Amino acid sequence: MQTQHTDIVIIGAGLTGLTAAFHLINEGKKVLLLEKNHWVGGQIRTFEEDGFVFESGPNTGSVSHPEVTELLNALSPACELEIADENANNRLIWKGDRFRKLPSGLIGGITTPLFTLSDKFRILGEPFRKKGTNPDESVGELANRRLGKSFVNYAVDPFLSGIYAGDPMKLITRYALPKLYNLEQNYGSFIGGSIAKAKEPKTERDRLATKKVFSTRGGLSSLTNALGDAIGKENIRLSVSDILVHPFENQWKVTFSTLQEEETILASKVITTVGAYALPNLLPFIAKEEMDKISNLQYAPVVEIAVGIKDTRGLQFNAFGGLVPSIEKKDVLGILFPSACFQGRAPESGTLFTFYVGGIKKHYLTQLSDNELKELVCKELHAMLKLPASMEPDMIRIFRHTHAIPQYELSTGERLATIECLQKRYPGLIIAGNLRNGISMADRILQGATISYEI
Ligand SMILES: Cc1cc2nc3c(=O)[nH]c(=O)nc-3n(C[C@H](O)[C@H](O)[C@H](O)COP(=O)(O)OP(=O)(O)OC[C@H]3O[C@@H](n4cnc5c(N)ncnc54)[C@H](O)[C@@H]3O)c2cc1C
Repeated sequence: MQTQHTDIVIIGAGLTGLTAAFHLINEGKKVLLLEKNHWVGGQIRTFEEDGFVFESGPNTGSVSHPEVTELLNALSPACELEIADENANNRLIWKGDRFRKLPSGLIGGITTPLFTLSDKFRILGEPFRKKGTNPDESVGELANRRLGKSFVNYAVDPFLSGIYAGDPMKLITRYALPKLYNLEQNYGSFIGGSIAKAKEPKTERDRLATKKVFSTRGGLSSLTNALGDAIGKENIRLSVSDILVHPFENQWKVTFSTLQEEETILASKVITTVGAYALPNLLPFIAKEEMDKISNLQYAPVVEIAVGIKDTRGLQFNAFGGLVPSIEKKDVLGILFPSACFQGRAPESGTLFTFYVGGIKKHYLTQLSDNELKELVCKELHAMLKLPASMEPDMIRIFRHTHAIPQYELSTGERLATIECLQKRYPGLIIAGNLRNGISMADRILQGATISYEI
């Protein structure tokens, strides 16, 4: 067994670990990135088959922080940013027997059948409603109080299904949607706050956060592969198992097995970016009662199904996709139309769809067999997307995620406090990843970059 030394060990080569490693290496630090899979990217993975290019995890991100643009600029030309076609501005919501357009302007807002007339009037009073006093108010409660029930059912619920595959009555606003929470707390209203924020002066750097929907040319693996290449093979160990981390003489001792041998590394810092459920085995020196407060984090299970049709006979799906409110009692959470948003995702006359099934409210549907899922998809292609009866998919690929999206519910406060306390007690230990600071790719890039500034 060899013992080596490095400055920083990062555990997990998903987007968080890769981004942190990339920045730290650029700052001249010696980094070793450990990953149990035989690929880098974690939840991000792109596949190609029969002219379709599809993702098993995230399909799109939002350029919501300057760090996203900065990272993609730094990786160019190895990885090329692809901003979604303007089709992506069309968002659909299922109601009754079909998808309807989510309104974006005043006229659409008045005429949409998605919301009740009384809630449409009620929204006029939103800027004058009192701000909430419960810091642990759920997103559903907050939206019900300020906007009305039909907005919760037909906007907030499907929106949170799309992001968290979660339950709006359980996701706590200040953790799950901190920007929304701050709008109410700082400006007293969503509408007033949004207008005031839009008028605030922006620096050149602020403007890098364009809020646009993005992918990368050829699929999101080109982002994580470009990060992997920039970090360098010599700084990454793949297919690693049995990682154990222990404090050792003012340093960190990390032991692990590779396909060839057992290794020991001494480092001054260890950054974990794995899911909360993986931490107890990784950090056995932390007492169970304390670790339970982190590892009790619940994750929504999700099945993602890529569906390709080589020739849709002129049928167009010019939208980002459609979301399904849970009140509508359908078996899909939503359907994305990636080939309407990005180049080269389907053959020229074809279409690529991505179906999502499961989530917190319908977790039991993730137990369906592959055949049952294929039947469900084929049924909804005709029922929801109105494909002609004679049109069948040419490709169906199923990806099961048992720990897809962490749920920032009421336990979050205690989890964050425990992490802070542990990081103070054990200098050099950083517990990161999407168990805190946001679940989106943009949040992961921000966290990876922030860790590198702070170290
Ligand atoms: C189905 C799905 C759809 C999504 N859609 C979107 C979307 O549309 N937009 C968006 O912005 N975000 C989306 N996300 C969220 C986004 O993909 C994730 O937040 C992000 O990719 C997480 O990156 P990460 O590095 O924090 O974690 P991960 O990608 O989970 O990386 C953690 C890494 O740690 C490794 N690991 C775990 N345990 C160990 C261990 N014991 N030893 C060594 N290595 C270990 C894992 O193999 C993994 O590679 C989606 C996620 C899923 C699952």
